[in-house]
Amino acid sequence: MYTNYDLIIIGGGASGCAAAITAARNGVKVLILEKETRLLKKLSLTGNGQCNLANSNSTTGKYNSTFPNRVFDVIPLKRIIDYYESLKVLLVEDNLRWFPYSKHSATVVNAIRDEIEKLFIDVKTEYNVSSIKKENNVFIVNNKFYSKYILLATGSNATKGTDSLDLVRTLGHKVFPFKPSLTHIYTDTKKIKGLNGVRVYNCNAKLEIDGNIVAESIGDVIFRDYGVSGSAIFDISVHLARAKSYKKAAVVLDFLPAFEKTLVDLIENNGGIEGFFHQKVKKAILLEAKNNVSYSLAYVIKNFRLENATLGPMIHAQLASGGVITDKVSQFNLESRLVPNLYFAGEVLDVDGECGGFNLMWAVASGIVVASHITSKLKLDDKYIDKN
Ligand SMILES: Cc1cc2nc3c(=O)[nH]c(=O)nc-3n(C[C@H](O)[C@H](O)[C@H](O)COP(=O)(O)OP(=O)(O)OC[C@H]3O[C@@H](n4cnc5c(N)ncnc54)[C@H](O)[C@@H]3O)c2cc1C
Repeated sequence: MYTNYDLIIIGGGASGCAAAITAARNGVKVLILEKETRLLKKLSLTGNGQCNLANSNSTTGKYNSTFPNRVFDVIPLKRIIDYYESLKVLLVEDNLRWFPYSKHSATVVNAIRDEIEKLFIDVKTEYNVSSIKKENNVFIVNNKFYSKYILLATGSNATKGTDSLDLVRTLGHKVFPFKPSLTHIYTDTKKIKGLNGVRVYNCNAKLEIDGNIVAESIGDVIFRDYGVSGSAIFDISVHLARAKSYKKAAVVLDFLPAFEKTLVDLIENNGGIEGFFHQKVKKAILLEAKNNVSYSLAYVIKNFRLENATLGPMIHAQLASGGVITDKVSQFNLESRLVPNLYFAGEVLDVDGECGGFNLMWAVASGIVVASHITSKLKLDDKYIDKN
């Protein structure tokens, strides 16, 4: 059967575009099908518009499973930096986090779009893929486009829209439904009434699930009418999203993580907690302690509990936890173990990383791995044809 393309990539996000560029540079004939009006819409929102592309820390332990490890063995940080530099994006490392020097996501988005144009990669936008069939070893997409290889890089529905997990299911793969991650946490709000918008700096936010602290992070916490937000909350939300089943979850705030045993002395020497906190936070602590005894105050400062923690809505999430279950996907090249020549990359897989650039690292590294594998398979196919 005639194929229009060697590779059809469904989804023109960070992972799909990295795959397209890598493959096209190796002479692979690629088509990107994207349902939005333009490629890379999500990338333009990243890092509050600053685009935190990668992280110098080890990737080990930064994801929900060890599945990404093999990909990062082959595509480590250096390869990801090389990829952006090959697009002529000047990068800067800031506190282990990598950004475009401009700290403006449009710099990266434009560079990728330009490269796709330069490489004459075919792109169809406003094109939703709703069916993929395979006949005689050829994939047929929406009964219209034919290709030897397919990459599903459809991401998740974090921030907007619908996901494409139904499409994945039609290919025989099982999925965990997406859950919001890297997001606000809703909690009981009685204790924080009137605090909307107040930010606490250097607060240790802990996540307690069924009586056990499962995650903690020191950073900003912002009180909201619905619960809590801020960098420390986003960090721990990842672990709430990953929890498969539990009865009760709570956020426990330690307002003064720098003080442990010395806190009671500090309060006594100071004659109370005046001057320690924002006035509204002080009031909430005093109300919760119910008296002015140093021990009670110290206890509340280190254990300010917000019960009934749940994840905020998908529309405010930067990431989704869940996706294609990885046991039927090769961890070396991300090829399906059920449908030969079908590949996955990026957030559509059940891979979620911590805040700090780890999700874009995964998107790009996985896209490059898939493209490299398909390129080498095509070369082998060509040799086979030459010989015969
Ligand atoms: C506000 C925000 C800030 C973020 N900041 C950071 C950050 O600073 N650092 C970081 O590492 N990560 C960040 N992330 C996460 C990161 O952006 C994503 O993990 C990454 O972009 C995922 O890339 P992807 O290619 O897998 O998916 P996506 O970028 O979501 O791309 C998937 C594409 O597939 C298309 N698509 C889906 N289904 C179909 C279909 N059926 N037919 C055709 N097209 C389809 C979608 O329209 C989409 O364009 C942020 C995310 C958000 C929302």
